[in-house]
Amino acid sequence: RVEVHGVHKSFGTLEVLRDVDLTFEPGTVTVVLGPSGSGKSTLLRAINHLEKVDAGFVTVDGDLVGYRRCRGRRGDVLQELKEREILGQRTRIGFVFQGFNLFPHLTALENVVEAPLSAQRRSRAEVEAEARELLARVGLADKADARPRQLSGGQQQRVAIARALALRPRVLLFDEPTSALDPELVGEVLEVIKDVASTGTTLVVVTHEIGFAREVADSVVFMDDGVVVEQGPPAQVLDHPRHERTRAFLDRVL
Ligand code: ATP
Ligand code: MG
Repeated sequence: RVEVHGVHKSFGTLEVLRDVDLTFEPGTVTVVLGPSGSGKSTLLRAINHLEKVDAGFVTVDGDLVGYRRCRGRRGDVLQELKEREILGQRTRIGFVFQGFNLFPHLTALENVVEAPLSAQRRSRAEVEAEARELLARVGLADKADARPRQLSGGQQQRVAIARALALRPRVLLFDEPTSALDPELVGEVLEVIKDVASTGTTLVVVTHEIGFAREVADSVVFMDDGVVVEQGPPAQVLDHPRHERTRAFLDRVL
């Protein structure tokens, strides 16, 4: 379970996240919707400790992300973890970006095995066998030796998903995974995400694909201006939004 407690984040005088409280239950799919600039990417980055928050905290399966709790003279204080420890935590919090971010000089297979080999010190044979299974699962068994520039955008994003899964994350965060793709490639990536969802991995997906939210999400979060305006099952938030801001947003995107 991922818990976001009372998170605040400002950039200078701009408040980007304001008292965000969210819980992502194990094995569920949460879709995060909201207008541009509402803080969606910052929220995902905060979960991963790519962004340090000004107040509040995030836990993954009870572990604080980025900090350890120390007993101080005036009660508990949070002490930031060392970079190496944070990188270790991040291996359990997968992140798939809009722009794929594959290593251009490595093949698909090498992209998938790189992190588990260097960060998790598992055996090459085991990691490679699992990587080939993952490539097969995302429909790319025959592309193991291709380099990113030899792959379509949809194929690159599917490699990126296999790479994230190779670390066996407890939660997988997607930041607009299909918005850099040509329209005809969006479906194949959403199908892969749907397949990953069916295996019980906890997913948090920032996307404007309302059809995907309706079909796959257990829960939909609508953010605006740094706050969680509402959260609920897709049928409620998408079809019977309680707040005018949600309604206005949906009218614009649907
Ligand atoms: P989009 O749908 O366009 O991706 P978003 O909901 O993901 O938007 P964020 O990227 O979280 O929004 O940005 C929220 C606000 O914070 C924006 O106003 C953005 O300009 C600002 N912001 C984000 N990162 C930084 C930064 N590193 N420094 C300053 N301002 C930032
Ligand atoms: Mg964003």
